[in-house]
This record gives sequence, structure tokens and C-alpha cells, in this order.
Amino acid sequence: MKTPPFKLHRPNSIQDAVNIASKLNSKGEEFDWVSGGTDLLPNYKWHINTKNHVISLANIGEMKRLESHHIGAMVTLHELENGPVHSLIQKGASSIASTLIRRSGTVGGNICLDTRCFWFNQTEDWRRSIDWCHKCDCDTNADCRVIPNQNTLCVATYQGDLAPCFMVLGAMIHLAGPDGQRSMNLDEFFALDGMKRNVLENGEFVTHITLPIESDQLVGDYQKLRLRESWDFPEAGVAASWKCNEGRVEELNIATTACESIPRLHSEQVAEVLNEWDGKESAKKLAEQIRKAVKPVNNTYFPPAYRRKMLRVLTKRALNGLLGGI
Ligand SMILES: Cc1cc2nc3c(=O)[nH]c(=O)nc-3n(C[C@H](O)[C@H](O)[C@H](O)COP(=O)(O)OP(=O)(O)OC[C@H]3O[C@@H](n4cnc5c(N)ncnc54)[C@H](O)[C@@H]3O)c2cc1C
Ligand code: SF4
Repeated sequence: MKTPPFKLHRPNSIQDAVNIASKLNSKGEEFDWVSGGTDLLPNYKWHINTKNHVISLANIGEMKRLESHHIGAMVTLHELENGPVHSLIQKGASSIASTLIRRSGTVGGNICLDTRCFWFNQTEDWRRSIDWCHKCDCDTNADCRVIPNQNTLCVATYQGDLAPCFMVLGAMIHLAGPDGQRSMNLDEFFALDGMKRNVLENGEFVTHITLPIESDQLVGDYQKLRLRESWDFPEAGVAASWKCNEGRVEELNIATTACESIPRLHSEQVAEVLNEWDGKESAKKLAEQIRKAVKPVNNTYFPPAYRRKMLRVLTKRALNGLLGGI
């Protein structure tokens, strides 16, 4: 299928990008941001929610800054996996897609990745053959194919790898838009509706991510389930980070991805076991609590029950470094 035509805008600074977005907004014109294009352009090729205008962030130098605690949204995944960042971030980045995609794909694009669903990530002809679905309904008012009879919410799955790794290190996300700049904890950035995806307002985009200095003291791991190790999206993912002092676990964080419409930080489940932490048994209990807390739906390659079971396994594997094997 041919990619539909669109007008490409190429701002050179954050302010330029905001100005272009404001101008398009004021004219009532819809647009998308594009960074590496490895997610957006395949969707455009399949005629999924295309827009007449696309604003490329590729020429904005200030968004390419990469330091241990400051990661510009235009830093590529390849630069990140080889960059001066926490080893957990390097591991998460190196697990994404293939070498070729990591050379183009960026941090901002990965965090803002569109949610995925096998009723939606298909060609236009395929989607027409099932009379569309709610997320790209082509003005037909089509229902959700996964949870029918509720025409409001999309439960497509968020399958980005970086978000849980950043979350367990306490990352903040920084945004710019027509109303100025704002920042928030990364776990507050995502929105449950798979169509809205995150809290970005019209014309707003991600400029960079920062990590607290204290994250240097955390040790961490990321474990991922996927069909083909060579390049597939995660079907389940668990990131863990911890800090020990004289044999005592002082801090523990767990986040999951690829099982719901948002990546999720599991502070409640961790708090339940951390006060009475006794090694392997606590880790097993925690892994079971995570399995129970996460509720995948049937819209990716592996069945939900298997993905849930694997969350328990991945949590234990992610904690191996803390326990010396369980
Ligand atoms: C075969 C294949 C395998 C893949 N495997 C994986 C995988 O294993 N794990 C994984 O996580 N991803 C995977 N991906 C998805 C994708 O390649 C990566 O997530 C990549 O990091 C996306 O970055 P990008 O810069 O190319 O995003 P783009 O395609 O440019 O953008 C993605 C989305 O984010 C929005 N966006 C981009 N930048 C910004 C910004 N700064 N602010 C606001 N919105 C923005 C765009 O509008 C778009 O909706 C895979 C893709 C393919 C094609
Ligand atoms: S979850 Fe439902 S509305 Fe969302 S993409 Fe899938 S079928 Fe469409």
C-alpha cells in the first residue's frame, strides 16, 4: 500500500515546533509528531489514522542531548544502549526491535509508542473486511473487537520496553507545548485509554527525560517475553531495581509493560512484601501478586493467560540478581 501524502514540517528548535503546532491548531488542522518514524510511518502505510500534516522533531539539536541523567527525546535507541546511562536503561534499549530499527527509533518515539492490537495493526483492506474497530472506525461508529458493547474505551496494548526501565529508576518526563513546559513522574504520563495513550495535550510533545542522581545507587534488571528474540515487540516485560544496605533491601521497585494499555509501576505490591522481606519466599510472593495485579486482554500474539503466567516468571528472573537465584 502507498503511504498517503502529507505535508512535512521541519522545525529547528523546540520553540519553532511549538509555533508550528499552535498555527496548525488555530486552523483546526490535525497533525502527528514524527521522530524516527519506525512506528508512525508503518501505521501511515497501512492508512491507520493518517493526518495531512506531520511535524518532524529530527532537526532539533537540543533534543539530542545525552548525559547520564538527561536523555533528550531525539536520542536514538542505538545511542542509548551504548551511552553513558544506567546499565538497566542500556539493557532495555538493547532489547528493542533490531539493530536497524534502533539506529532510527528514538527515546521519545518509544515512550509515546502507539498502543497495539491485532484487530488494528493491519492493512486497510484487512480492517475493512472486519468492518473496522473503534480505534480507527472510519466514521462508522464501529465497536471494539476485544471488549464489545462499550463504544468508549480502547484496550489496545502498550508494548514499549523503555518505560518500565525508566519508571523503576524514578524518571521524570518533560513536555513542551503551546501552554509552556511541564514535567511529571513518568508513571503519571500514561492514560488508560489506548486511543488517548498519554496525557499529552494537542500540540504538546516530549522534550527529554531526567533521572535522579540517587538512581545511580540502584541495581536493576529487565526481562522480556517475545516471540522471536531477533526483533519482536514485548508480549510481557518486567523491570526491577533495588538498593541493599548491609544485607537489608532498602528499596525495591517493579514495573511491567506489554500486558495492559499502560506500563505500570507496582508500588502497592512491593510495599506489601518489603517490610518483611525474607529473600526467595518474598520474591515468590511478590511475583504472584504482580501476576494477579496485571490483566492482559486477548489482542496480541500470545494468549492472556500465558502472558500473565510469564509475568510471574519474569518477575522472579528480574530479581535473580538480588537473590543470587531463586
Ligand atoms: C519490526 C518492529 C519491531 C519493533 N520492536 C519493538 C520492541 O521490541 N520494543 C519496542 O519498544 N518497540 C518496538 N518497535 C517500535 C518502534 O520501532 C520503537 O518503539 C521506536 O523507539 C519508536 O521510535 P520512533 O522515533 O521511530 O517513533 P515514531 O515512529 O517517530 O513515533 C512513534 C509515536 O510517538 C509519537 N512521538 C514520537 N516522538 C515524540 C515526541 N518527542 N513527543 C511526543 N510524541 C512523539 C509519534 O507521533 C508516534 O505516534 C518495533 C517496531 C518495528 C517496526
Ligand atoms: S482494543 Fe478494541 S478499539 Fe482498541 S484497537 Fe483493539 S479492537 Fe480496536
